[in-house]
Amino acid sequence: MTTPRPLGPVLVTGGNGYVASWLVKRLLERGFHVHATVRDPHDPRKTDHLNAIAQDCPATLSLFRADLLHPGAFDSAMAGCRLVFHTASPLIVRGVEDPVRDLLEPATAGTRHVLEAANRTPSVRRVVLTSSITAIYGDAADMEQIPAGRFDESHWNETSDERHQPYSYSKTLSERLAWEIAGKQSRWDLVVVNPGLVLGPGLSPHTSAEGVLVMRDFGNGYYRFGAPELEFAIVDVRDVAEAHLRASMNPKAEGRHILVGESLSVMEIAEILRGRFGDGFPFPRHTVSNTAALMLAPRRGIPQAVARRNLGYPLRFDNERSRSALGMTYRPAAESIVEHFQQLLDDGLVKLRHPVS
Ligand code: NAP
Repeated sequence: MTTPRPLGPVLVTGGNGYVASWLVKRLLERGFHVHATVRDPHDPRKTDHLNAIAQDCPATLSLFRADLLHPGAFDSAMAGCRLVFHTASPLIVRGVEDPVRDLLEPATAGTRHVLEAANRTPSVRRVVLTSSITAIYGDAADMEQIPAGRFDESHWNETSDERHQPYSYSKTLSERLAWEIAGKQSRWDLVVVNPGLVLGPGLSPHTSAEGVLVMRDFGNGYYRFGAPELEFAIVDVRDVAEAHLRASMNPKAEGRHILVGESLSVMEIAEILRGRFGDGFPFPRHTVSNTAALMLAPRRGIPQAVARRNLGYPLRFDNERSRSALGMTYRPAAESIVEHFQQLLDDGLVKLRHPVS
């Protein structure tokens, strides 16, 4: 029997991340030789899981060192690649110390450095950028400006800045920059995916992705005074990896693609968790008033201005474009939620205890 020739190479930036690890796995399983950049290829906490995945796959994985802040850092990893997946970007939502240093600079400089490397690399034909729904909207209150009652790909976040929702601002600035750089050349095209809150089991036990923090809140008593009237627009991490693959393979793919399976409130998520894991966790039992939630917000690490523009508003997205253009179907959010929480339990990140009365 002959071994099939490996496809690729393809580049995945930030290959050790929560989302990117699933993408690397899927690419390796399909026979692509993957170049993955990481900040420290010799840190086993960041790379062991990738090397383990690669061992079971027919294709090979090569790790390259690259920091978003360093111009030229991506050139050697990109050499010979037709496809580039740019996923690396700092994801810090709570307790940002210095928004410019910690978010805006690495996100935008990184996008510039990766795309300038694409301009220098003759083999590149397509770049798939991992943007976010936070480049589409700033706060749930923005829904009031949307007559159709759902955000779609024509919308841009116009309400975030470096003080208010700086992570969202970093994603907006970097996606806009990506379109600007892509528009100035014609050798490679840009396809963007805009995932919602990504949940579902991770491939590394050391991930601290936002979804882990959100799920941990349900197990550690963060909502012990009740559920705020907030909604999350959720997508499964495996569906996000699949969408990246489809965005890269479909020759007709173009533009932006919202990736959201469904929107659920904090209380709906709590009910799903209680239904599966019982009463031994401090899942909220009732919704608190917006006035009370506003008072509690700073204690929960949320600035009051952010709470005021998100409490009590629905958060809805139109995912029709990803369904029709990429052929996406979405796992039910309940599946992602239950499997994610189970992983936190297995990893000891949440512990069974009696409900707080
Ligand atoms: P993650 O696990 O924190 O991954 C982020 C990746 O970016 C990591 O590989 C990280 O490397 C890398 N990175 C951060 N700063 C860097 C720097 N200065 N130089 C080089 N690499 C750097 O988060 P994720 O959830 O997988 O996010 C991946 C992408 O999806 C991001 O673009 C994020 O904005 C987007 N996204 C995520 C969600 C979500 O809910 N998770 C939703 C929408 C969009 P280190 O491991 O070395 O820090």
